[in-house]
Amino acid sequence: GEAYLEVSDLRVQFPTADGTVDAVQGLSYSLPLGRTLAIVGESGSGKSVSSMAVLGLHDPRGTRITGSIKVGGKQVVGMSADELRRYRGADAAMIFQDPQSSLHPYFTIGDQIMESYRAHHKVSKRVAKAQAIDMLGRVGIPNPQRRISSYPHEFSGGMRQRAMIAMALVNDPKLLIADEPTTALDVTVQAQILDLIGDLQRDFGSAVVFITHDLGVVAEVADDVLVMYAGNAVEHGPVGKVLGAPLHPYTWGLLESLPALSGEPAPLHPIPGSPPSLLDVPSGCPFHPRCEFRDRVGGERCTTVHPDLVPRTADTGRLSRCHLVDPDRVYQIEILPRLP
Ligand code: SF4
Ligand code: MG
Repeated sequence: GEAYLEVSDLRVQFPTADGTVDAVQGLSYSLPLGRTLAIVGESGSGKSVSSMAVLGLHDPRGTRITGSIKVGGKQVVGMSADELRRYRGADAAMIFQDPQSSLHPYFTIGDQIMESYRAHHKVSKRVAKAQAIDMLGRVGIPNPQRRISSYPHEFSGGMRQRAMIAMALVNDPKLLIADEPTTALDVTVQAQILDLIGDLQRDFGSAVVFITHDLGVVAEVADDVLVMYAGNAVEHGPVGKVLGAPLHPYTWGLLESLPALSGEPAPLHPIPGSPPSLLDVPSGCPFHPRCEFRDRVGGERCTTVHPDLVPRTADTGRLSRCHLVDPDRVYQIEILPRLP
């Protein structure tokens, strides 16, 4: 379908005491309504920073954002504070790992949802209250007429997560960004919240960006996957293909460090080393110090030339940023048999 979210050559830089950090280095992707994109990466990969930029949120002061972020045709980069207030919540909303970051402890759940609604709709308190009750019901809070008067601390972790989702969706934004929304929850509640987000996506017909480091969650929720490393997209494609036959050595490393998707106990092969500091990104391919395939590429290519993100020749729906001439062949021969 037609893109609702369109990110083109997004760059995010921020100053630190030790120098400028290039947190996102030219990210491009698009997402139509009704689809879920999982953005995967370790901390410092740029997955959160790039998604915050989509909402016009950034930290700290002095952050420089360039490139283009279009949401429903509106250009977010360069919006004024007023424009951002009108845009946020109405066109795009975010849910976080920790509901405390969006729910205020001193106000009732109902008051907070009503306030969100009234920020975008000129309606009476009575109308806003009916809307808040309706939303709490839709996210599966039992007895919403009564629970609307509860304070956040009176809810369980899972219920707070539901209330935060209700608040994010009350203005019917067509883009929902979920940043590790289930990481802090136990497995049962996590599954319930993932189901809820999927159900709401179908009801509201929204586009969802799901930020996570958990490939189990990706397999569960995503249509497409974008893998980020050191501020760059390194692989992008449909979930079954990316998880089933990864093209990029980093994606393969992520999969091999999983405790088996299949239930069979598989030996863990963690990726050696750790992600680079963004103040000191390795030359050439930023993954080269950790990559066991760089010798195959030969010469100094991996250590001196930063690869482009290019379509795989045989299947243009998939993109990979690696100098291996025919990565498919390498994976077929050596890697896939080792996958769980
Ligand atoms: Fe490994 Fe070279 Fe590919 Fe980078 S470009 S992932 S170092 S093989
Ligand atoms: Mg994060």
